[in-house]
Amino acid sequence: MFDYLEYIRKRNFPHIWCSGCGDGIVLKTLIRAMKKLNISKDEAVMVSGIGCSSRTPGYIDINTLHTTHGRAIAFATGVKLANPSLKVIVVTGDGDATAIGGNHYIHAARRNIDMTVLLYNNYIYGMTGGQVSPTTPKGDKASTAPYGSLEQPFNISGLASAAGASFVARGDVYHVQQLEKLIVKALEKKGFSLVEILSPCPTAYGRRNRMAHPVDLMKWLRDNAIPKSRFDKLSEEEKKGKVPTGVLIDIEKPEFISEYEKLIETLKGK
Ligand code: SF4
Ligand code: MG
Repeated sequence: MFDYLEYIRKRNFPHIWCSGCGDGIVLKTLIRAMKKLNISKDEAVMVSGIGCSSRTPGYIDINTLHTTHGRAIAFATGVKLANPSLKVIVVTGDGDATAIGGNHYIHAARRNIDMTVLLYNNYIYGMTGGQVSPTTPKGDKASTAPYGSLEQPFNISGLASAAGASFVARGDVYHVQQLEKLIVKALEKKGFSLVEILSPCPTAYGRRNRMAHPVDLMKWLRDNAIPKSRFDKLSEEEKKGKVPTGVLIDIEKPEFISEYEKLIETLKGK
């Protein structure tokens, strides 16, 4: 049993997250994963944008950057280029990363830049007022869609895979042991690694969508976030409403920063 407080920036508590929010579970799970890999506080950098998930850097006592809306991956790219030895972790949300920051997201995946992105997907803009986000399921309600969203949602793991990420996984805050293993694998991967984390928002999403109590959202994850190996065996009818979890992509391909360093070495020899 280790002391979580070692990694906690106590001066910023109490935190701003609502009761029943999944974001605190992600913070604790990340600390467990870092501890498992013996990542020291000095060698890790956490970068975030704007939103509830992006408050995480305030609460973890490593090197942190809280940046502008949608730009966390761009700042993280700069950090990694400046000091490639750092373990760069981006924490972001569905709105931050795939709406405002959508271009940075797909191009960091395409370039396969060595960083781990923890993308908290709560199907809504939480902090900024409960608006429809790119992952709000069609028909679900939001402050900007009182009769239900008319839009088709992004599959954000699928987006990263299609863009070229070398590691893509999906986990959730109910199945925390699985989530810890996925974060460990993502941190170990050399290249762009994404963990999409289903992290419920009872305040902005749940109460508009018949799941006002945090326990309702946890039960939904328990029953519907299922391992990909089980999901793949279901009929098309049975798959409806279910979300596959686990490692979705794990491939080897050249990593951008290493390629950049190789080029510098080659040019030095000329
Ligand atoms: Fe969490 Fe939603 Fe509250 Fe933000 S608004 S802290 S995502 S429950
Ligand atoms: Mg969100």
